[in-house]
Amino acid sequence: MELIDGKAVAASIREELKEEIAAMETKPKLVVVLVGDDAASKVYVGMKERDATEIGMEGSVIRKPANTSQEELERIITQLNRDETVHGILLQLPIPDHLDEARALDLINPDKDVDGLHDVNVGRLHNKKDGLRPCTPSGVMELLRRYDVDTSGKRAVVIGRSNLVGKPVARMLEQANATVTLCHSRTKDLDQVCRGAEILVVAAGRPNMVTADMVSDGAVVIDVGINRVDGKLVGDVDFEQVKLKASKITPVPGGVGPMTRAVLLQNCLKAMRIQNR
Ligand code: NDP
Repeated sequence: MELIDGKAVAASIREELKEEIAAMETKPKLVVVLVGDDAASKVYVGMKERDATEIGMEGSVIRKPANTSQEELERIITQLNRDETVHGILLQLPIPDHLDEARALDLINPDKDVDGLHDVNVGRLHNKKDGLRPCTPSGVMELLRRYDVDTSGKRAVVIGRSNLVGKPVARMLEQANATVTLCHSRTKDLDQVCRGAEILVVAAGRPNMVTADMVSDGAVVIDVGINRVDGKLVGDVDFEQVKLKASKITPVPGGVGPMTRAVLLQNCLKAMRIQNR
């Protein structure tokens, strides 16, 4: 079994970006908008800002209180859209319930949408056109590439159909010529479907739901899940048992998570290039 070390791959991506950015006259600038006091979001946003500045990009955070109005949020996004010094805009989710998340996300200029969640970018992905792709699915694909996992003609099973992870990763695998089965909470005989997978991507948010009996010998297993159990981070895969069968497997933490952050930086540089075309 080979451990897929997302932390190491992410570090080498950051090094590559740092070199590229050092040679640039104008540096890419990422602005994160944080509304409210969600504790996890505060930590994530701090990490994103630090990641950006560490590789020589400009990074800043606009922090707004939980009672910020929709009008105010939209005014901030519109201003960032117009600001030519800003290349990437990220609205940290979740935002407070009284705000219309879909409306706010759709207001972001698609060419600055470093999260790749705007309808325009979703369309570009589905039509295989150049655009900004969501970070976590791109991170999964990058791990497969860097660990020489040949996807062409392979049976890939994805558990989870969210817009953030499951659906885009399934589409990317299909575009990499895998034969993809997309599973969700209504899927029948999930165990059996999973056993047919040569590549298994799990993004359900259910701790340890994928057990060894669901995995074929030699399968490549990518665990996207992040769950907190008794104060510890665990994935959706029973890592200790499944690693005995998998040919390659990601750990949690240290697998897909660091890749999501690294791709966000890649996306900001890509956004700048798209805007300068
Ligand atoms: P969502 O809750 O939006 O989606 C979960 C999906 O899993 C749904 O499609 C749901 O099906 C499906 N599902 C849930 N339970 C089962 C089950 N028992 N059997 C089969 N399918 C099931 O989650 P996200 O996609 O946003 O995130 C998934 C996980 O990935 C979470 O743990 C999250 O924390 C993590 N994550 C990690 C990231 C990283 O950087 N590593 C980034 C983003 C997310 P249905 O549609 O039918 O309800």
